Amino acid sequence: MAAELPATAEVVVVGGGIEGCAAAWALASRDVGDVLVLERATVGSGGTGKSSGIVRCHYGVSSLAAMARVGLETFEAAADVLVGEIGFHQTGYVVGVGQADVDALRANLAAQREVGVETEEIGASDVARLWPGVRLDDFAAFGWEARGGYGDAYLTAQAFAATARSHGVRIKQGVAVAEILRDPAGVCGVRTADGSVVATRRVVLAAGPWSVALAAPLGLDLPIRVHREEIVLLKPGIPTQGLPVLSDLVSLQYVRPDVGGEILFGNSDLDTLKPADPDAYLNRADDAFVEIVVDKVSHRFPDLDDAVLASSYAGCYDVTPDYNPIVSLTDAVPGLVVAAGFSGHGFKISPAVGRLVADLVVDGVSGDVLVPERDFRLGRFADGEPLRSPRPYTTAGQMR
Ligand SMILES: Cc1cc2nc3c(=O)[nH]c(=O)nc-3n(C[C@H](O)[C@H](O)[C@H](O)COP(=O)(O)OP(=O)(O)OC[C@H]3O[C@@H](n4cnc5c(N)ncnc54)[C@H](O)[C@@H]3O)c2cc1C
Repeated sequence: MAAELPATAEVVVVGGGIEGCAAAWALASRDVGDVLVLERATVGSGGTGKSSGIVRCHYGVSSLAAMARVGLETFEAAADVLVGEIGFHQTGYVVGVGQADVDALRANLAAQREVGVETEEIGASDVARLWPGVRLDDFAAFGWEARGGYGDAYLTAQAFAATARSHGVRIKQGVAVAEILRDPAGVCGVRTADGSVVATRRVVLAAGPWSVALAAPLGLDLPIRVHREEIVLLKPGIPTQGLPVLSDLVSLQYVRPDVGGEILFGNSDLDTLKPADPDAYLNRADDAFVEIVVDKVSHRFPDLDDAVLASSYAGCYDVTPDYNPIVSLTDAVPGLVVAAGFSGHGFKISPAVGRLVADLVVDGVSGDVLVPERDFRLGRFADGEPLRSPRPYTTAGQMR
């Protein structure tokens, strides 16, 4: 049975991932009366459902650090501002770097504090207390965010959706947008796969990696590539209660406890990327990746001798040339806001993305001086002005 769609909407959001749902909630909070989200499958069924959900504000790009702080504050306030449980675990977040990156770490911590992030340098003895048994001799310095941790992106997207609905947003699942329509004045509607048309002068394109194909007929070339990212879960054979999230920028891995006593390992080494089709990719870690995890785990966690592989899966990153998102109006297509290319950062910053999208739709500019719309504009690539950290690490520069 085809979903019944309205003939018009003030804003149509294409994609019910965490960004589309955050945008819908933020639009409704700004009193945009008639917001319609169209999701081809179900809310959170795209990259959102695969997210490791790590929450940290440790970014070299100040606007991203500021967005992550907004995200953290929203997750902390979830019980008061959102409908439903979001699964946020405030375990704390440690980032460890090698000798070559000590100056960059200290400069990054200082810059993060300037945009309101609570973070500090801690010593090896502190880390040894936070994560007993971890090997520390090849780290030279550590950053710490007591308010960091990890969340559940799927649950959070559902909560954004439920909250948006409670403000009057309509969310239609099982409705794929086939085409964004335009006339000489700009966007004029969307056509769905079953041929229905919803007329609108505002479209938010938040369809993750699928945004590229929807933007192309409008003459917009979104520079987004898709890469497969593998995740491995281990049964560690030790208690995980109280362990923080660890970003290991020496071995290039991130590690966090998971609900149920497992430990989750993800990749921070983006030198060898695995191009993927987001509609057909191997949904598990391949043997080579498992071997890499085993090597890295034995090095970093010598006491996990008895650990066994519990499970693995894979998801897709939608990656831009500078590894930073596009949240942007477009000169070529008035009325269109693109929110895509989140490059592995999209969970923690989603509340701030929602606000920025709503600001662009309503005012045409960002309402947060710490999050200038210029940083996230699509045109930065053509202008040769990528958004990069002024203090990149020698390792994993793209992700910090
Ligand atoms: C393995 C992995 C680990 C990650 N870890 C972290 C992390 O630790 N911390 C962090 O901050 N971020 C992390 N991320 C990134 C984060 O999860 C993503 O950036 C974020 O979920 C992207 O959300 P989205 O809404 O842009 O895309 P998606 O969740 O992919 O949503 C897009 C939606 O659009 C829908 N859609 C597609 N085409 C159409 C169409 N034609 N019509 C209607 N709907 C359509 C899809 O069905 C989908 O639901 C991770 C991602 C992965 C894959």
